[in-house]
Amino acid sequence: MVECINKKKNLELCTCSYNGCSNHAVCCECLRSHWKNRELPACLFPAEIEKTYDRSLANFIRVWSKEVLF
Ligand code: SF4
Repeated sequence: MVECINKKKNLELCTCSYNGCSNHAVCCECLRSHWKNRELPACLFPAEIEKTYDRSLANFIRVWSKEVLF
């Protein structure tokens, strides 16, 4: 596998609290692995929600629709 040229910068910005995942800071792999299950990466969730590890699209819509609409 080719090393991501943005990995160092991505690592500084990665908000995922799940240790031991090889996709940390390799955003394309992270997105691909979650999207195949209709989930989204940790960085798209507020910190307190991210820690639940529910990365489902339904949870994303539920969280952000409350944030934006109410
Ligand atoms: S969001 Fe998922 S795939 Fe991405 S680094 Fe965290 S655990 Fe790994």
